[in-house]
Amino acid sequence: MRESELLQHVYDTADGPTRQVPIPPGDDMAMLLVGEVPVLAAVDQVIDGRHFDLDTTPLELVGRKAVTRSLSDVAAMASHPVALLVTVALPSDFGHDRATALFDAMRETARYYECPLVGGDITLHRDASSPLVCTVTVLARPGPAGAVTRSGARSGDTLYVTGRLGGSLGPDGLGRHLTFEPRISVALGLAENLQTRLHAMIDISDGLGRDAAHLARCSGVRIEIDAARIPCADGVDWRRAASDGEDYELCFAAAGEVPSTLAGVPVTAIGRVFEPGPGTVAPVEIRVGAESIDATRLGWEHRS
Ligand SMILES: [Mg+2]
Repeated sequence: MRESELLQHVYDTADGPTRQVPIPPGDDMAMLLVGEVPVLAAVDQVIDGRHFDLDTTPLELVGRKAVTRSLSDVAAMASHPVALLVTVALPSDFGHDRATALFDAMRETARYYECPLVGGDITLHRDASSPLVCTVTVLARPGPAGAVTRSGARSGDTLYVTGRLGGSLGPDGLGRHLTFEPRISVALGLAENLQTRLHAMIDISDGLGRDAAHLARCSGVRIEIDAARIPCADGVDWRRAASDGEDYELCFAAAGEVPSTLAGVPVTAIGRVFEPGPGTVAPVEIRVGAESIDATRLGWEHRS
């Protein structure tokens, strides 16, 4: 079973945009109209053994990651976070003090990003071997350029990424995937600066190759990335930078001038957007010297 195939089924069988749901499933967040007010909503989960290892990860960082992953989706829509709701399923022997520490970490992280925790639920598993699961729902409101989707990239755009990519999961299971900064202020700065020239955006969770492919498919375009331009984290080559995932940086398509740093974060042009090629051409290719590599499967996928 592949996560991407399941998600594709969900997207294929979802209703298209309607007046009530202008952005349907398939983007970083959905948008719905509450009365006449546009509200963005998304839900995400982190699970022990999958997204972190409870044996080595401090609870403060588990709680932080549960919240910041959802906030990264708000950044991807260039929107303002509004509120969070959290549910937690705890192993039966988790204990009161650790549960309190986990909850405090989530509330403090939410407070830090001015996105209050307004509700949720706590369940105890029947046994001690079932994993800790934290599920976070985030609500947001559109930023200065509206809600920026994955589907607006067009031929002639330049493709950019923020920050540096790869190596977010350290050899000890710790690392940047736990401590990353959700790029909300960068995204809002881009929206303010570029307005309608900011055409499409996604946050990099699965890996640059795979996430750029989501953007290309949603926009109906083809993307070429120059391997030499990908900003790599220390000790990481372009291939890992394009495939490791859990960077929680932004990948976006824009026209015209784009600032080279925003809120102290580097913004790097890494590729170009083209009309879709014939059926045999991959939606995202990485150019390495004279060679072109299909990048659409470079990245992380959950499988059983
Ligand atoms: Mg996302």
